[in-house]
Amino acid sequence: MCGIVGFVGQGNTKDILLAGLSRLEYRGYDSAGIALYSQPFTMVKAVGKLEELKKKVSASKDCQLPYSMGIGHTRWATHGKASEKNAHPHLSMHKEVVLVHNGIIENFAELKTFLQEQGYSFYSDTDTEVAVNLIEYYYRKDKDILKALFSVQKELKGSYAFAIMFQEDAKTLYAMRKDSPLIVGKGENAFYLASDVSAFLDYTNEIYPVENREILSLSEKEIHIYNKNGEEVKRSSTIAELSQRQIHKGEYLHFMEKEIFEQPKVVKDTLLYACNQENEEPAGNAENPKFSYEAFSMTEKDFQEISRVRVIACGSAYHAGWVLKSVCESLARVPVQVELASEFRYNHPILEKGELVISISQSGETADTLAALKEAKKLGAKTLSIVNVKGSAIARESDFVFYTQAGPEIAVATTKAYSCQLAAGYIFSLLLAKAKGKISKEETRSLTEELFLLPGKIQQCLSFDQEILPMAKELKDADNIFFLGRGLDWAISMEGALKLKEISYIHCESYSSGELKHGTISLIEKGSPVIGLLSQEELAGKSISNIHEVRSRGAKCFAIRMEDIAIEEEDFAHNLIVPKTHPLFAGSLLVLPLQFLSYQVSLLKGFDPDKPRNLAKSVTVE
Ligand code: GLU
Repeated sequence: MCGIVGFVGQGNTKDILLAGLSRLEYRGYDSAGIALYSQPFTMVKAVGKLEELKKKVSASKDCQLPYSMGIGHTRWATHGKASEKNAHPHLSMHKEVVLVHNGIIENFAELKTFLQEQGYSFYSDTDTEVAVNLIEYYYRKDKDILKALFSVQKELKGSYAFAIMFQEDAKTLYAMRKDSPLIVGKGENAFYLASDVSAFLDYTNEIYPVENREILSLSEKEIHIYNKNGEEVKRSSTIAELSQRQIHKGEYLHFMEKEIFEQPKVVKDTLLYACNQENEEPAGNAENPKFSYEAFSMTEKDFQEISRVRVIACGSAYHAGWVLKSVCESLARVPVQVELASEFRYNHPILEKGELVISISQSGETADTLAALKEAKKLGAKTLSIVNVKGSAIARESDFVFYTQAGPEIAVATTKAYSCQLAAGYIFSLLLAKAKGKISKEETRSLTEELFLLPGKIQQCLSFDQEILPMAKELKDADNIFFLGRGLDWAISMEGALKLKEISYIHCESYSSGELKHGTISLIEKGSPVIGLLSQEELAGKSISNIHEVRSRGAKCFAIRMEDIAIEEEDFAHNLIVPKTHPLFAGSLLVLPLQFLSYQVSLLKGFDPDKPRNLAKSVTVE
């Protein structure tokens, strides 16, 4: 789930492992540890921040010796609480094997019983300790490492990326994966291993991607990759697309701030990509850019055949799905249903012929979304994914893919990837409306033009960075904050509430304005903060009436509205205005003040917005 690193070869193993873990810190974790190859293995683990592990490592005399192989881990607990005994690496009972693990072994309980019958005992509550003992069990049978790993591969259910060391083999690092990411880096007389390329980009950008169900062995100079049938696979290295610069904060205090500021550029890149699959000005027709069906790896006919759309996603991507629904139903008149990916499989899904299932995920590795997508495929649906990471599991699993151009997103709370997902939803809706003949050439042209004006307007909204401060100060001590909106404003308010919850730990709820008096209004008391989103001309009047209802019950109201939407200023403690755009695209602007609000409140409360407690960047377990 969280982070894995490994190193073998010439270099300062301990420092390389710790630096790699620091790079993966953004993903969220609750404990960490390293194992260095020695006889016996040298191991250090600590609960809490990586700083704790680093302190322990520098205090350990053993760790100061030279080592030429080691593994490291940041854990996001799934089985057993965050404690030192449950932290990785995990050591087998006879101390012959040590490993780190990302993922979940689903059949760990039955395997544990089996191993106990064979005389194994366990010191931790993790599923991982079962895996390391199972490897040792097979290994002790005929002392053949690869054979043992292949046997274990057949037994394990669930997801895993393992980095493994054997006492017997001082020079080789082993690894295997299934449904959990793993990547190899080639250095000079060294190999790096990690769950995410950013862990070793400071050392090398020459990489070997690892496919599902592959097993590998790495030594100072050699890499061997075996497929699930045990055959050796020849693979050449490639150059990582991610650059070192992209994973550094530069002049910004936090990745979240940097990523909010990157939004004008990445939204523009996403629009350009939709024209020609390159982030360049559309060739020859800069005046009249055209979105292409091919950006979705689809044809016009594929679009014409869509009779319904089902969006499956989690968290912010789910909220982006609600925006897609509004825009698509309005422009293309094709019904869209939005479902939580984690619920999809359990809701007895019924998919109709011609229904396109769209999975939205930043990482493309979200386990709930991946599982829902597989279910949709089983039911015979055509599938499209909107993802940010090339070649990710969800992208590979889908019939069609659209790649958002957000670039690497490091902060746990998504900002720029969400904005690109909104853009992807607009473009999809526009193309669908065009393919179905629901909008004229002229409308298509003017909507496309308006979309290309969005990056500039997002740029204008960056001034909320400071403008939001007085409001943030007033809200920072609130226990509960209510967000209100109708239609598209409601969809955006869900994202605003989530952002604030994630990084400021204030309880927030978003309500459809009209729904308020059907229950929630009973929560309103003197001083209750209510943030009203007002960007939809034809709904604004009704939403304002709802705001009056809460105001007359003592609520303190704040408005985030689009230029030209009339309000009585005295109704609101603060009144923030975003530039005018087509109402269907207003969410792309409203979300900026909401992002800055959560960022500033988090800072005012003394939290680290990049690393919210309990959260992980990409949720790769169900
Ligand atoms: N399931 C393992 C555990 O709970 C690994 C979790 C992770 O991926 O960090 O220890």
